[in-house]
Amino acid sequence: MKKANKNEVVPQAGDTAASLSSLIPIEMAEPGDKFMACPKTVEWIRATFLDPNSPLYNVEHDHLSSAEIGVLWTNVPNNRHMRSIVATAELCMPPGSLNKWGKARWWSQIEQWFGTTALDFVVTFFAPYFAGATEIEHFAVSDHELYHCGQKRDGFGLPMFKKKTGKPVFGLRGHDVEEFVGIYRRYGYQAGAGDSIALINAARKSPEIGAAQIARICGTCQ
Ligand SMILES: [Zn+2]
Repeated sequence: MKKANKNEVVPQAGDTAASLSSLIPIEMAEPGDKFMACPKTVEWIRATFLDPNSPLYNVEHDHLSSAEIGVLWTNVPNNRHMRSIVATAELCMPPGSLNKWGKARWWSQIEQWFGTTALDFVVTFFAPYFAGATEIEHFAVSDHELYHCGQKRDGFGLPMFKKKTGKPVFGLRGHDVEEFVGIYRRYGYQAGAGDSIALINAARKSPEIGAAQIARICGTCQ
């Protein structure tokens, strides 16, 4: 962790921890299927994981400092294979199967939610789960979704950047063993899936942040 100088206030885990529950829109508790954009949750994600001064800062998400992320809260249950999905991370891109109107409608919906279509990723959180989850689970699930928000690599394994803008070329990262070692290290072995020596070594150590059980509740993994 970065050492604080005299005038600098270093946020403690508790400062940002409580705020995710408080960010769930109250409309989520009302009847009817809802999806609501929440810029404040994006701010929470940035302050918690992308700010080098945060105790939960994760260097592995550094490429996301220039990413445009949209967060949606929903109260719509999403069950697959007898499991409840509580979060997903997606590229902000309509499915290729849509025709012209389908794509235009898709973008129009994005515009209505976020006020822009210039987004790289859309992360969706299932409000009823987060309303009852522990703080550590909030961290583990959102950190896990950020791991899905990857940067493409070239044939030499080097991160790719757009020639014109210099921005990273973003891509969705699957549940790759190497890339999810961080979740094991930070939240414990029950927070992930897969096996490799690195994973096992990370799992043997005490989690850096706290133990969380989030396996198989991410829609992007399934
Ligand atoms: Zn996942």
